[in-house]
Amino acid sequence: MTQSRLPQLVERFDGFSYGYRLNCECGRATSLSAADYFAEGNQAHMDCEHCERSIHFGPLVAALRDEQDPALDDNVVGQLAWYHTSTWSDWPSPDYVSRTGPQFRVALERFGLGSTHDLSQHTTKTLHLGTYEAAIENMLRRMHDQADGDSRFYLYRVALSLDPTRINEGYRDENAEKAADLTVGDLQAAGLDAVRYLNVYESMGSLSLAVTPEVIIGIQCIPIPIEDLAALLPPDPFMEQKEALDAEAVEWSDAAELISTIDPIERRRMRLGLRPDPEGLIQRAEERELRRYALWHDFEDILAQYYPPPTSHP
Ligand SMILES: [Zn+2]
Repeated sequence: MTQSRLPQLVERFDGFSYGYRLNCECGRATSLSAADYFAEGNQAHMDCEHCERSIHFGPLVAALRDEQDPALDDNVVGQLAWYHTSTWSDWPSPDYVSRTGPQFRVALERFGLGSTHDLSQHTTKTLHLGTYEAAIENMLRRMHDQADGDSRFYLYRVALSLDPTRINEGYRDENAEKAADLTVGDLQAAGLDAVRYLNVYESMGSLSLAVTPEVIIGIQCIPIPIEDLAALLPPDPFMEQKEALDAEAVEWSDAAELISTIDPIERRRMRLGLRPDPEGLIQRAEERELRRYALWHDFEDILAQYYPPPTSHP
């Protein structure tokens, strides 16, 4: 798995509770919450905020979600952290062609295309990058739609070195022109290293990039699901307190055993100072009692942090 030291990258975690903006025939977009989008009320029709028309909403009319999206700035695109998910543990592998070539050959021959078909069309596809949310949603879509439910995935965080003058102007609308089929040759012919496009499938309304492999200067990768989750988790928050209480319990039982050998009336007299206590037994027992109380108090404090009492409503 490739791991490189990445330059400082700009993160932008939008989260998954975003709404949508949808295009009307009048040329302007109207906002809709995710809840309303998925409820598909009025047979997925909504009023346009700008004209009398009604918008039949869905991916086909998806608009750019944030008109101030930082990825619109040619000088910023290359400073952002970009993400990709794949079932390949060494994406983007330099031996991709040699490994997938034979599979493509078999498929092409089955369709009677055989050796006449230009294999490079498939093997020189551009690499696709998106926001963190788009990458995660891509993984979930593949698990759902493409029988990858049991596959191991890899989440890649990617650093780019981009010439701001070799990025397409504005963004391509995936509804109008499919970005998935862009080849490295297409980009080269257009004098570009990256094509910015509106993603209408994952994190709908976000901007993604199709790039030539050469602009990728660093990659970090984590497998999903993480194999040894326990190693990544913070230690048990109660461990220290539990150990202290256990140690104290041992001390306490030793002291209690000693004290039990002394007659109860003698013990009371010793506590009141009416009898000598040469080994300081009674004092030690009282100290233990205080220590036990303090430990239990700390333990309760920690418990309260992790399990706060339910908020009371007036
Ligand atoms: Zn309208």
